[in-house]
Amino acid sequence: MSYAAFAERIASINDLLCAVSVMQWDARTMMPDGGAVTRGQQMATLSVAARDMLVADETLRLIDAAERETQSLAEDAPERRALAQARRAVLHHRRIPPDLQRRRTELRTVAQAAWIKARAESNFALFRPHLEAIVAMSREYAEAAGYATHPYDAMVGLFEPGETAASLTLLFDRLRMALVPLGRAVGAAAAGDIDVLAQPFAIADQEAFGRLVAERFGYDFSRGRLDPTVHPFEISFTRNDVRITTRYNANHLVPALQGTMHETGHGLYEQGIDPAFTRTALATDLIQLYAVGGASFGAHESQSRLYENHVGRSRPFWAVHYPLLQARFPAALGSLPFETFHRTFNTVRPGLIRVEADELTYDLHIMLRVEIEMALMDGSLAVRDLPEAWNALVKRDLGLDVPDDRLGVLQDIHWSSGYLGSFPTYTIGNVMAAQLFDVAKADPIVSAGLDDADYGPLRAWLGEAVHRHGRRFTRDELLIRATGRALDPAPYLAYLDGKYRALYGVAA
Ligand code: ZN
Repeated sequence: MSYAAFAERIASINDLLCAVSVMQWDARTMMPDGGAVTRGQQMATLSVAARDMLVADETLRLIDAAERETQSLAEDAPERRALAQARRAVLHHRRIPPDLQRRRTELRTVAQAAWIKARAESNFALFRPHLEAIVAMSREYAEAAGYATHPYDAMVGLFEPGETAASLTLLFDRLRMALVPLGRAVGAAAAGDIDVLAQPFAIADQEAFGRLVAERFGYDFSRGRLDPTVHPFEISFTRNDVRITTRYNANHLVPALQGTMHETGHGLYEQGIDPAFTRTALATDLIQLYAVGGASFGAHESQSRLYENHVGRSRPFWAVHYPLLQARFPAALGSLPFETFHRTFNTVRPGLIRVEADELTYDLHIMLRVEIEMALMDGSLAVRDLPEAWNALVKRDLGLDVPDDRLGVLQDIHWSSGYLGSFPTYTIGNVMAAQLFDVAKADPIVSAGLDDADYGPLRAWLGEAVHRHGRRFTRDELLIRATGRALDPAPYLAYLDGKYRALYGVAA
C-alpha cells in the first residue's frame, strides 16, 4: 500500500516531466519562432511544479513508509533502488536554495543571448562577464550541493554519478597519451584525401535511407518517429513514444545519416526499458528533473556511439548496405568504389570544431574542455585568461593554430546554458561503447548477425545487458554485470588503434 502511494506520486512527477519533454520536442521541430518566450515560461512552470512535488514533505513521508514496507527486499530490487534514488534527489534539491536556482535560470537566458552575439562577432570580451557569472554560480552551486574533494565533482556528478575530477583526470590522461600521437599520424596519412561524399544528395532519398537503417537497427516506428531539426536529439515520453531527429544537408551524405544512426542508438535504449518501469523513478532522472530511462548521460551516449560508430561505420555494415545506397543515389555513387566510399565515411581530419570532428580526434576536443572546466571551477584558471589557455591546448592536442575565438573558445553553446560538467559524458560514452561491443561481438550469435547485417541479436544482447534495466543499476554496475569490470579504456584504445592504422596504412 505504502509503496503504491509513493509510486503514484513519482508517476505524477514523471507525467509532468514528460509533458515538458513534449513541449521541448515541439519547440525544436515544429514551433514557430514566435512561440519561444511563452514556451519557455510554460516549460518552467511545469518543471517547478514537478520539483515542488518532489521536495514536498509529503514525498519524504511516502518514501519513509514505503521503505519500511520494502525493507525485506534485496538491496538492488527495483522498488528499493527507486526509493533510494527518490530520497537522494529530494535531499539534493533541498540543498539548492530556490534563489540560486532562479538566478541560474535567469542568467542562462541573458548569457545565451550574449554568447550568440559574441560568437557572431568573434569577440570573447562580450561573453566574458557572463561566463564569469556562470563560473561563480557553478562554484556556488557546487558548495550548496556538496562534494568530496574538488568542486567539479559536484557538477560532473549531476550528469555522470560516480565520476570526479580525480577519476576523469586519470582516465583522460591515459586516453590523451595514446590519441594525440595516433591522431597526428593518421591525420597526416589522410591529409591528401578528397571528400567524395560532398555532392548533391536529394533530401527525400536521404530520409528514406535513414529510415531504412533505423528500422534495421530495430527502432520501432510504431512507438517513435523521425523528424528534421537544427541540432539533432532524441527525446522520450515513456518507452511507448520515443522520438528521434536529424539534420539534412542537401550537399553532403554523411551528417544526416550519421545523426540518424546516433539518435537511433539513443532511441533503442529508451524503447527497450522494462515496461514495468514506465512512470517510475527508474525511468526518471529526478536530479536533473528529466524523464529519461538511461542509467547516466554517459551510458546513454554509449548506445548512440555504439550504433553510429561500431556498427554504422563498419565494413560489414557497408558491405551489405553500400549497394542499396548506390541504387538510391546512382548519379553520385554509381561508379564510386566501395573502398573509397568506406574510407571517406571514416575520414580523419584534425580540425578546430568539435561538432565536425571525426571519430578519432573527437575525444581530444572533449578532454581539453574538461581540463578547462576543472581549472575554472577550482580557480586555477581565470575567465580572462581562457582564450589563451584554449588556444594553447588546441595546439598541444590537435597541433592546430586557432585563428579567432569563433573557431575557438566561443564555438559551443554548453557554457552559456549555465552548465559546466556535461562534456565528460561524451567521451565516457565512447569508452563504454567499445567495452560493451567487445563483449557483445564475442557472442557467436551476435557476431554472425553483424556479418549478415542482422541486428536483432545485437539489440537483444544490449537489451538484456543495458536497455531493460533503465535506471535500476548504476553505469558501473551495468558494466560489471555485462563485461566483468567497471569502466575500462583498453578496448576503446585497441579499437581505434587497430581500425585507423589498418584503414590508413599507418604502422604501429
Ligand atoms: Zn548523443
